[in-house]
Amino acid sequence: MSPSKTPTPLDPISTWRAWQTLTIIYTILLNRQIYRRWLLEQKCMQNRPLRERFRPVIFLEPIPTLRKPNTKTKEATNNPFNETTMDKLRTRVALLRARVEKGKELASEIERRMVQDPPIRFPTHFCHTCVEDGERVEVLLTTCGHRVCRTCIKYGVDENGVYECSICFAPTGFVARSPVVLVKDYPGEVAPILKEGEVVV
Ligand SMILES: [Zn+2]
Ligand SMILES: [Zn+2]
Repeated sequence: MSPSKTPTPLDPISTWRAWQTLTIIYTILLNRQIYRRWLLEQKCMQNRPLRERFRPVIFLEPIPTLRKPNTKTKEATNNPFNETTMDKLRTRVALLRARVEKGKELASEIERRMVQDPPIRFPTHFCHTCVEDGERVEVLLTTCGHRVCRTCIKYGVDENGVYECSICFAPTGFVARSPVVLVKDYPGEVAPILKEGEVVV
């Protein structure tokens, strides 16, 4: 075999299978990061009085399967010959990969804050986008389990007023705000808990 020989490109079905396998691998890695962050949140909360605790809302991602590709229906979402489908699949892999990297960063940031000197009261409570401390600014919890400050919300709102999570790249709502003790400390900056999709700017 000559060293300059280029490898034969994969046929569309094998290409689809390869990308679909990547979505499975990255989803498993992502879930490991999500679970790791959930454990850290629990650990930070366990010694605090009940009124100072807040719920970490964290959902694991459903793991895709290597289902049989559909080559008969042109519009099928698993048709390897549909270019749009393949583009979406490649984009999905790129986003999952970015979320795994971000997950690692968030967990390391929490670990760093847990041992910070002087100690901070809420090591898990910071904006996941700009890392601003939740003790200094109001930080809201999204339905997808991320924390975001009001400044970053402004940059993530589309023309319809819907906030798109800068980590999940998906529209999301808000389920909670800063813990009670912080609300008490910053009464002027407190806003009501928003309903899904609702944004106060
Ligand atoms: Zn922020
Ligand atoms: Zn999110």
